[in-house]
Amino acid sequence: MSRVIVVGAGMGGLAAATDLARLGHTVTVLERAAAPGGKMRALDVQGAAIDAGPTVFTMRWVFESLFRDAGLRLDDELDLVSADILARHAWSDGSRLDLHADRNASERAIREFAGARDAAGYRDFCKRSAELHSALRDPFMSAQRPGPLQLVARLGPGGLAAMWRTTPWTTLWRSLAENFDDARMRQLFGRYATYVGSSPFAAPATLMLIAHVEQDGVCLVRGGMARIAMALERAARSGGAHFRYGAHVAKIKIRDGRAIGVELADGESLAAEAIVFNGDANALHTGLLGESVTRAVPGTRVAERSLSAITWCVNARTRGFPLEHHNVFFGDDYAAEFAAIFGAREIAHSPTVYLCAQDRGKAADTVTRARERMLLLVNAPADGDQLASRRWDFERVERHAFELLSRCGLEFERSDGDCRITRPEDFDAAFPGTGGALYGRANHGAFTSFARPASRSKIGGLYLAGGSVHPGPGIPMATLSGRLAAARLHADLG
Ligand SMILES: Cc1cc2nc3c(=O)[nH]c(=O)nc-3n(C[C@H](O)[C@H](O)[C@H](O)COP(=O)(O)OP(=O)(O)OC[C@H]3O[C@@H](n4cnc5c(N)ncnc54)[C@H](O)[C@@H]3O)c2cc1C
Repeated sequence: MSRVIVVGAGMGGLAAATDLARLGHTVTVLERAAAPGGKMRALDVQGAAIDAGPTVFTMRWVFESLFRDAGLRLDDELDLVSADILARHAWSDGSRLDLHADRNASERAIREFAGARDAAGYRDFCKRSAELHSALRDPFMSAQRPGPLQLVARLGPGGLAAMWRTTPWTTLWRSLAENFDDARMRQLFGRYATYVGSSPFAAPATLMLIAHVEQDGVCLVRGGMARIAMALERAARSGGAHFRYGAHVAKIKIRDGRAIGVELADGESLAAEAIVFNGDANALHTGLLGESVTRAVPGTRVAERSLSAITWCVNARTRGFPLEHHNVFFGDDYAAEFAAIFGAREIAHSPTVYLCAQDRGKAADTVTRARERMLLLVNAPADGDQLASRRWDFERVERHAFELLSRCGLEFERSDGDCRITRPEDFDAAFPGTGGALYGRANHGAFTSFARPASRSKIGGLYLAGGSVHPGPGIPMATLSGRLAAARLHADLG
């Protein structure tokens, strides 16, 4: 078996390391940060650990199968609780709607909120998104990246019928109008495009399958999201993988057109027969890992970047609004919000705010806290490497975000030092080559799903894993990408 270096201990890198170690390779994971997880990280705010990255955990089956193959049980490794309320949604006119894990309960809530037609539309929408999910799960999400024609061949009659009904040539927003008259319902389900860093006004309708993914189960993780990364690290270690933190890979070395090892920032060299790169693929293209690997993948132009974000990790008391674990406070003009980000590279005057109240919901621990731990997130353009031409002002966005929360009824009792803020430039610094884009390239148009790099790069021995490559971003998808990279590498070297 071979010596393999995995660059990065994000979800993709951890999954690749787990599989490769199990398959008998000698695996070393090199991670520039001090801990595993990448975007999955917690920040300390006045002694409280607040999840500052992903908070919505779905597609449990991905992790069940990864742990099972490693000889472990997901339930032994993580304490997961299924959420009864998927999310609480609020608008500044005072209206509110909960989506429930129980579809009948959601349908009843929608009937009360938006009328019988939209409730019937919801039932049909669930069916459409389930059909798309079942059509694309095995031939696209869990498989090596196909080309468009290959996908058609893999889909089979049932899959083709689902894709015919909800084609990728229609945008998600337009397609939602077939099911929902109420603009708030379109806002609510259109928001799923942001899960892959995209605009519902440009993303293909096929992305509605994300709705099914949530209806299939959202899990809350007792002890916080970072436990997922720690569990994957344990699984990789139990197979024999070695981890080195604080190890920034400055160069991927090439000989005779093949990757032969890496050089760390301090000059140390490590040899390997193959490398899995879990950073953003664009870092390779832009030369951050050396000139000799720039041709490994196509680059992502600034205009093609996915969403970035501004996040606030807040440790404070709140009043006035009954927070759930996941809460969304919608801005007044959704079209203007995405036109601002992807067109003018601005942030609109009433931006939608996502708020994860981490001490609420079924997985909340029994410790009574004087203050509660929250992550607030506003979408932003990925301009973290273009500060000189930035068009928006942080103080203004912050003011507008908290004003929207206040109009929805939520007030904060703030104190000095109760908040840590992360801006696009901070994401760019933590995830090189991204400009702060959190999800690789935006999923805009019918064919962008095929534009993400596949697991095998154009350079022999160099493989790719993570949210910027196939099958895409999000915790489960990045995990699948790591498994695909491991399978491809093992097949090639075997
Ligand atoms: C604020 C926020 C909220 C999100 N919300 C959700 C959510 O609710 N649900 C969901 O499913 N997803 C969510 N996501 C997306 C999800 O977190 C990511 O898609 C996923 O975690 C990415 O995993 P990855 O494998 O691409 O690795 P990354 O997390 O990108 O990690 C890559 C790792 O590689 C390391 N690295 C890079 N270059 C080098 C180098 N040269 N040398 C050494 N190490 C290097 C980095 O330090 C990093 O640790 C969110 C992301 C963010 C930021």
